[in-house]
Amino acid sequence: MKEYDFLIVGSGLYGAVFAREMTNLGKKCIVIDKRSHTGGNIYCENTEGINIHKYGPHIFHTNDKKIWDYVNSYVEFNNFIYSPLANYKESLYNLPFNMNTFYQLWNIKSPVEVAEKIKNQVEIAGCIKPSNLEEQAINMVGKDIYEILIKGYTEKQWGRKAIDLPTFIIKRLPVRLTFDNNYFTDKYQGIPIGGYNKLIEGLLAGIEVRTGVDFFKDRYELSKLANRIVYTGKLDEFYNYKFGYLEYRSLRFEHEYMNIPNYQGVSVINFTEKTIPYTRIIEHKHFEFGKQTGTVITKEYPQEWKPGLEAYYPINDVNNTNRFGQYNELAKSERHVIFGGRLAEYKYYDMHQVIAAALTKVKTIKDTF
Ligand code: FAD
Ligand code: UDP
Repeated sequence: MKEYDFLIVGSGLYGAVFAREMTNLGKKCIVIDKRSHTGGNIYCENTEGINIHKYGPHIFHTNDKKIWDYVNSYVEFNNFIYSPLANYKESLYNLPFNMNTFYQLWNIKSPVEVAEKIKNQVEIAGCIKPSNLEEQAINMVGKDIYEILIKGYTEKQWGRKAIDLPTFIIKRLPVRLTFDNNYFTDKYQGIPIGGYNKLIEGLLAGIEVRTGVDFFKDRYELSKLANRIVYTGKLDEFYNYKFGYLEYRSLRFEHEYMNIPNYQGVSVINFTEKTIPYTRIIEHKHFEFGKQTGTVITKEYPQEWKPGLEAYYPINDVNNTNRFGQYNELAKSERHVIFGGRLAEYKYYDMHQVIAAALTKVKTIKDTF
């Protein structure tokens, strides 16, 4: 008989939701994380009363009322609506691509004319059946927007040519023929009041957590602690990279405190020119309508992942998808290990999808023991 039912590797949203649900079902869980804090990529650090999104800006959004009610049962959310801007050669454009953007770019006020203009550009480009991100983008918004707001941003974000990237990445963005700058189309959206740490603290309340513990530094002993392991780290690392590395994009963040109340007037500005090395500037206080006298901004620089860096974005192109398939075959044959979350499933998951995946997993396995 082992001491714990579950050893949960990773205290991000997947691990925290899984631990909470299993604890509620009477199972004994222990959560470990190699970082010095819990929360994974939603963790925030407080500076002068401002919650800094330490691993990139996070906006919660979902269409699923059950998921919305679930997170709100741990922390109340504010009514923040994400409406970032794009900066291209010193001009500002609204995002996502909507009538404001089209007006700023083409000086056209009529949705009928915009639709006609995009249709013409798509026909000239001949992108009727898109097979890569470039073709998909042109098919959605035409060549002008692609060149100004997508190509440069995408190629620096992913470190690859847009023609070598999958279409689904750009399909995340809505295109609207209305004057509506809401980046998301989901029914529910917001930021936890008091920050994301409150959500994680709520989920992990009363559960044993050890931070600063890397599973791979003591794999053998840690594995003996529990009947089952829930692993939310990198899948290739779990198998010691035996089929080679899965590729990721990593990020470098440059934070700066400024003694002014408001730097850019909006939470995020994307810089879409390829020659500017960062992709965006985040001004954190705006996520919570902060009234502090100072402000903190962060420049986000994309870079290729290599050992020692944090893995942020899976690169789901053909080669990596095939390699992931090899690892996943091994994962499927594990009887005592559950793999979940953005790293272990190598999926471009948003927060609500990670929560849903963890809840589903608990539901499907809870009757197996
Ligand atoms: P993670 O949060 O990565 O947690 C995994 C944890 O496992 C980490 O804490 C890690 O330290 C730990 N770990 C890994 N290996 C080991 C090991 N060997 N031993 C011990 N611990 C280990 N989603 C949205 O919905 N809205 C957004 O606006 C949004 N913005 C994002 C911006 C950026 C820059 C990024 C990168 C992601 C964004 N996301 C957003 C996605 C969101 O961050 C993820 O969906 C979610 O946080 C993933 O949770 P997770 O538990 O799967 O993984
Ligand atoms: N994108 C772009 N220009 C922008 C914003 C996004 O070209 O100003 C593209 C880019 O390829 C990006 C993708 O759209 O990777 C998805 O954007 P999203 O904002 O959803 O990315 P994330 O929040 O995951 O970084």
